[in-house]
Amino acid sequence: MSDNSSAGFASFAISIPLYRVFDYAIAPGAQAHPGLRYRLPFGRGSKTGILISTQGVSDIPPNRIKTAVECLDEMPVLSEHMMALAAWLSSYYLQPPGEVLFQCLPSYLRSAKSIKPTRVKFWHALPVEAELRERLRKRSPRQYELLVAIERAPEGLNAAQLKAINAGWHSPVSALESKQAIRWEWSKPAAKDNNVMLQAAPELNQEQMQVYTQLTGRLDSFSVHLLDGISGSGKTEVYFRLIQDQLAKQRQVIYMVPEIGLTTQLIQRVKQRFGEQFVCSHSGLTDWQRFQAWDRFRCGEVNIMLGTRSCLFSQCDRLGLIVIDEEHDSSYRQEDGIRYHARDVAIKRAQMLDIPIVLGSATPSLESLHNCERDYYTIYQLNHRPTPFAPPRLRLIDTRNTKLVSGCSPAVLERIAHHLSQQGQVLVYLNRRGYAPVVMCHECGWQANCEQCDSRLTLHQSIGQLLCHHCGYTLGLPAVCPECSFVDIKHYGIGTEQLEQVFKQRFSQFPVIRLDRDSVTSHDEFAQRLEKLSEGKPCLLIGTQMIAKGHDYPDITLSVILDADQALFSASYRATERLVQTAFQVSGRSGRGDREGEALIQTRFPEHPLMQALSDKSYREIAESILQERKMLGFPPYSRVVIFRADALSLDKAMSRLEQIGQYLQESVQKRGVRRIGPIPALMTRRIGRYRAQLCLMSDNIQQLRETLNEAMPSIKNIPDTHSVKWVIDVDAFDL
Ligand code: ADP
Ligand code: ZN
Ligand code: ZN
Repeated sequence: MSDNSSAGFASFAISIPLYRVFDYAIAPGAQAHPGLRYRLPFGRGSKTGILISTQGVSDIPPNRIKTAVECLDEMPVLSEHMMALAAWLSSYYLQPPGEVLFQCLPSYLRSAKSIKPTRVKFWHALPVEAELRERLRKRSPRQYELLVAIERAPEGLNAAQLKAINAGWHSPVSALESKQAIRWEWSKPAAKDNNVMLQAAPELNQEQMQVYTQLTGRLDSFSVHLLDGISGSGKTEVYFRLIQDQLAKQRQVIYMVPEIGLTTQLIQRVKQRFGEQFVCSHSGLTDWQRFQAWDRFRCGEVNIMLGTRSCLFSQCDRLGLIVIDEEHDSSYRQEDGIRYHARDVAIKRAQMLDIPIVLGSATPSLESLHNCERDYYTIYQLNHRPTPFAPPRLRLIDTRNTKLVSGCSPAVLERIAHHLSQQGQVLVYLNRRGYAPVVMCHECGWQANCEQCDSRLTLHQSIGQLLCHHCGYTLGLPAVCPECSFVDIKHYGIGTEQLEQVFKQRFSQFPVIRLDRDSVTSHDEFAQRLEKLSEGKPCLLIGTQMIAKGHDYPDITLSVILDADQALFSASYRATERLVQTAFQVSGRSGRGDREGEALIQTRFPEHPLMQALSDKSYREIAESILQERKMLGFPPYSRVVIFRADALSLDKAMSRLEQIGQYLQESVQKRGVRRIGPIPALMTRRIGRYRAQLCLMSDNIQQLRETLNEAMPSIKNIPDTHSVKWVIDVDAFDL
């Protein structure tokens, strides 16, 4: 890549799902530096493009090439490092390069908006020896002119001012930088009040101290560390200590948490420890707020970026450490648009920058445990809580011969009542929102199904509607059966909405807080409701996955998992792993304060080996046995999986698109001994009116799998992606 104002032509990335870049002519004198955004003529309108590279000539005939309209930025919005990371992401995950580059930008910058950065770079002059000055004056008039101008400006000059002197200022300025005649610094930040009450760090206990000491000895270059610590063992304190050390060295830190883990509680904790030295980025903020956080971190005004998946792409000059909390969490995997795993991309980023990365979890992913096994990562364990009580073991509640009252066995109801009476808070996990998941006619067997998906409609009583959780399709609750006109339509099963109602009646003297996607619509609302727990009064918290993770409330003394049995018979090979993780996360929320916790799981299959294991084994022991099973079956993490997915207006179309892709792959697949499964219809074949199918490649030899893809991609790339048949590639697909 060259920085050349008279390059003539440049290749641009545009955010469309095509595996190619676009060439444009550059007007003489216009800036041409990788990472700058331009407005480009495209079709009959225009699009924003990011300049990737410049060249003196183009393959496109001169009468057909268009000229870039205008440059939107004074400074590149993507650093060289970020461009390189994007290039890696695009080639590893086989995603269209333009879409990947745009993904690396905050949403606010993806359109043609020109930006007003919160701070800008200013170039200052350094002492220059007479000899160098003379040489510049004679041989490099452009550099000399700029140097003199910078020397005369006591505050230095910014990009706009340099551009006014010489439109092609980029390359002479970087030449001056490399000669150490000038240097840039960020402009001074706006002053702000600093009235947060800082709290001193607690002293690390012996176990934490040991882990911290081992870790710090190994942080001077690229290395991956896994902090495997039981729930409530004080992992966050260890991260804080490591972050503190980076700040002391003037380095910056990216601290990633899962979407819902970013509660007010954590933000508050970070604020109390680090004051105003951090910014947050999460889905509860506007594009403008997220852009500001991005920009403040970029220019070094703050040194900690605390955020969810996409904060992985935050840029800065002095990154020293990346921390990924709850590394097993599936929200790090992006499943729509560009498909990638933020944890894995973060590891690549750390490698490119030669810095350490610390992953942490109470229930580490099988991938990470496997990587520790083969010494790719170093593992550290925290097996004790600093508080008096260990996380409770799950106790199985056999529901085979009991009559359930709205999904709860008498034993569970008794324990709930007991804990509330002892001033404890109770958490009840039920991963099903709505009132009831099944609605049917008793007479003819009619079931309320979605018109657009292969799924059932869930009754939501508060809105008097049947709702599809996949596409949002709604149907008014029919008064009589649409098939046979029988009047007695019944609902079965229980969702969080019903549970809330039942608990409100049964435990009427206690507040019932329900957290699911229907009851909370915003990030703030979620945080506020959860914050109610910090008052310490007895209450019931019920909810879906939202309540399973990320919080630390010392007054929760009972955790209950109501309905986990479906996971025992799921068609997904990931189901057991997910169940085990959820079970340990949920039970780990209890007993964190100075009272002992209790944890219950209801099941109709208490003799099932997995249920047995949940009641008497540690997470690590269960994970080891799942790993053994995967090894035998040749499933991930002992193999890699790539899935081609297609969806179309008919199943035939989706299948035949995958047949076509399969043909391009076939020769390599055979030659390289890669397993091929499909094409087959997806588990849920029809979704939002489209039919879905998949073609899966699997191999325990990553190299062979890569080669197969490399051989076939040049042909596959050109297969059109249209409304009638769409297709995508999912590298390291999470599920089959
Ligand atoms: P984890 O991240 O492993 O779930 P946390 O870091 O949230 O655990 O710690 C759980 C609780 O224990 C928190 O309330 C935290 O303030 C407290 N804690 C952690 N380390 C210590 C320590 N060394 N001394 C006292 N309290 C601690
Ligand atoms: Zn009927
Ligand atoms: Zn639907």
